[in-house]
Amino acid sequence: MALVLLLEDDAAIAEPLVFALERAGHQVRHFLLGSDALQWALAQQPDLLILDVGLPDISGFEVLARLRRESAVPVLMLTARSEETDRVLGFELGADDYVPKPFSPREVVARIGAILRRAQGAAQDPAAPSGIVLDEVRARVTCRGTPLVLTRYEYLLLAVFLRAPERVFSRAQLMDLVWEHDVSNERTVDTHIKSLRAKIHALAPDLDPIQTHRGLGYSWQP
Ligand code: CA
Repeated sequence: MALVLLLEDDAAIAEPLVFALERAGHQVRHFLLGSDALQWALAQQPDLLILDVGLPDISGFEVLARLRRESAVPVLMLTARSEETDRVLGFELGADDYVPKPFSPREVVARIGAILRRAQGAAQDPAAPSGIVLDEVRARVTCRGTPLVLTRYEYLLLAVFLRAPERVFSRAQLMDLVWEHDVSNERTVDTHIKSLRAKIHALAPDLDPIQTHRGLGYSWQP
């Protein structure tokens, strides 16, 4: 059971979704405008946000970008099926998952259930281990016992490194392992490495485990 913000200006999409979410036991607050949703989310701190991209005022991406300056709340994006760039941009801005339109409300309910379980798992702090630990069962990474708040691609990228310490991966290999066919720009890898370094640094300023190998790629140095 969660407090869910739904930002969707199309009533034909929003109504069945609100119905399905409420039937699953969630409390839903529905908004038509990005600015209203953002203001409410920052004040009320819901458990999860579902954001449409195309809105009458500011886009769902802009809501996400502004939200991420202050909040790590889980976000699910509703994207147009054909817009691969929407998906990539969403993840880069810190979305946790996306559902392409058209979708079934049941699928969205199932997805947000998975996101919420992951978020709850991350909130339960186990005995603090030293260093950075991959927990593949819960799909999370902890840094000295504190879960790193990661986007999906950040998690997948970090998992590749943690499974093969000291191995040097080229950007092309990382793209192949993490993004499969989703991305054509290798700079996406660099962007995610940069954000991972920042997130690790925020929790453990003395650790710098991602090493750059000039002209070759990156490796993980435990
Ligand atoms: Ca729309």
